[in-house]
Amino acid sequence: MGDGLEDLEKSNTIVDFNELITKAYSILKKYPLCNHCLGRLFAKYGLELRNEERGFAVKTMLQIHLYELIKKKQVSEKELRIIAENGGEPFTRLYKKLYEENIQSRSCYICNNKLSRKYFEEIAANAANKLLDHNVYRFLVGVSLPPEIMMKELEVYQELGLETTESLKNEMKREIGKIIRERYGLEPDFNNPEATVIIDFSNDTLHLIVSPILLEGRYWKRGRNISHTPWINREGVRVYPYSIQEFFEESLKEVFDAEKVILHASGREDVDARMLGEGRPMVLEIKKPKFRYVDLGLVNELIRSDLISGYINGYSSRARIEYLKGEGSKKAKAYKLLVFSEKTLSGDELKALEEFFRDREIKQKTPSRILRRKRDVLRIRKVYEIKTFQLNPQVFDVLIYCSGGLYVKELIHGDNGRTTPSFTEVLGTKLYPLEIDVFGVETL
Ligand SMILES: [Zn+2]
Repeated sequence: MGDGLEDLEKSNTIVDFNELITKAYSILKKYPLCNHCLGRLFAKYGLELRNEERGFAVKTMLQIHLYELIKKKQVSEKELRIIAENGGEPFTRLYKKLYEENIQSRSCYICNNKLSRKYFEEIAANAANKLLDHNVYRFLVGVSLPPEIMMKELEVYQELGLETTESLKNEMKREIGKIIRERYGLEPDFNNPEATVIIDFSNDTLHLIVSPILLEGRYWKRGRNISHTPWINREGVRVYPYSIQEFFEESLKEVFDAEKVILHASGREDVDARMLGEGRPMVLEIKKPKFRYVDLGLVNELIRSDLISGYINGYSSRARIEYLKGEGSKKAKAYKLLVFSEKTLSGDELKALEEFFRDREIKQKTPSRILRRKRDVLRIRKVYEIKTFQLNPQVFDVLIYCSGGLYVKELIHGDNGRTTPSFTEVLGTKLYPLEIDVFGVETL
């Protein structure tokens, strides 16, 4: 069994106080520093110490040291005066006792004496008020520092050659965050905060960045001629009276007291198409909400109507939106179309059509109806299966199961050969898709 104390004495990890005091002395000879800013330079020493405590402890040790040196006449009155001017207490006290003069200490080179417990508390109170005003529980603190302060910080760090210092930004974020948590009961969250409060160090103003609420679910559109987002033409006139985006915004803006509601959907159907079946996957982004904790049951009641409705099953994320709009939108889709044929068709012809379009690759150039908006590209998609239901010799319903991103109207009429093969091409007659419904949108 070793003697603990003896081990400690032999250990080479024991703090080298000579080095620490020497460094503190050389830095205070050059720069006036408050307890906070000096304490941060020695951040690796001690545990559970605030920087102001650590800074004052270093100054105290240095004062003890200097007093011994003064007694031995190894430090002059002039040298102590400089340290008292730059370090303030407890050097000024020592100076007054020895030389009977009050020394006016200089302002901190880095923070200009701004840092104090009182300052942290005031900022924390303002920040907490702002957060509570937006009903935020999980928060993050950010600090915006003027570049000249960052430069000064760097200058002092480099001078000292210390490896483990703490930055001013970090001290503020940590101390203010701690007060907000302990005094106001809010919870810091580094990964997914409901809001971030940014402190501008130059003028102490606070800027709140409220994170949006992301709700995931599906939507249905039971009417036709409803656009995805408000559709306004070049003359500034509305082309369609209503949009899905507006429906969700009108339904939810008030209950969340939000600035805006944005619809992110996995693909979109044509204006004249209905969205039936299992609905289309979507994420609703509630921007700058003042109320965050709205019961999802209530949300679901509010987004129900005859024409458009939605169902929210939980909260979502940015990554999920990316997926739904990217990879997810390429998943298989099911459509139902009502088709009019220029010539009469027999049941056998429709049977042959079904046979032909089993696992059939389709080459599509960008449809001429959207060429003005989109680049002319060739895309290859697949029809997995179709099923026809003849209603009369010239009209039939068709169910189409195909890969995502296939333009189904063009699959019917062929778009003057830009889509091939097409129903028109195979049946040898002009076909007109009259009505289109989306039935299934596969997304995981
Ligand atoms: Zn300072």
